[in-house]
Amino acid sequence: MNQHLETIVELQSALDQLKVAEERLHGIPDWMRELHNEHAANKAQIEQIEKTVEEAAKERRTAEAATSDAQEKLKKYQQQINKVSTQREYGALLQEIDTVKGQITSQEEQAFSSLERSEQAQKDLAALRESFREIEERYAAEMTRWEAEKPGIARQVDDLKARIADLKKALPRPLVSQFERILERYPTGAVAAVRLIDRPGQKQREWHCSACNYRVRPQVVVEIRNGSSLVQCESCKRILFFEEEQA
Ligand SMILES: [Zn+2]
Repeated sequence: MNQHLETIVELQSALDQLKVAEERLHGIPDWMRELHNEHAANKAQIEQIEKTVEEAAKERRTAEAATSDAQEKLKKYQQQINKVSTQREYGALLQEIDTVKGQITSQEEQAFSSLERSEQAQKDLAALRESFREIEERYAAEMTRWEAEKPGIARQVDDLKARIADLKKALPRPLVSQFERILERYPTGAVAAVRLIDRPGQKQREWHCSACNYRVRPQVVVEIRNGSSLVQCESCKRILFFEEEQA
């Protein structure tokens, strides 16, 4: 194999490993994913009920404030009763008193139903917290384990970055630029293995680019094997190489 090609394939492999390590470092590890999802669902459920408790408390405060306002009004009307002089004024005042009494009753009912709602929600909340306790504890323990694993992965990320820098230094600059241009177009990889396709009944062997499946001509296969130059796939332009077992 071309000496630079070997470095390029190694570079691509280091970049792939870096991606995996960085995903591991910043994401949720597979062994924690199920528990993480369960924990998140429980948390959402608890938050929903907490919101109900809060809303019911707010409703109750509003109703209680309205009740005490109405009671103030009632007191004022009752004091006015002794001061009215005509039958008409008296009738009008009694009407006002009736209205305000009705308001007090309905606000008291509202406050009571909010209280009941809030108490029920609090009971639900306590029951949910109790039933989620085991998951909470397991989650906390796994988080601790995960946090303990992180420094090792961070070191791995640093090592890979250093290795990538070294490999790039070992290559001629134009080649690094070429590699990076292809990588920009194909973030999953700038190189592609050449694969031998065996077709029963067909005498001639056929080679293909493993990334885009385009046929690789026999003279191109020879060129890659000779290692005289770097060869790009004629269709997708990825840099072609032979995997060890086929070389
Ligand atoms: Zn291709």
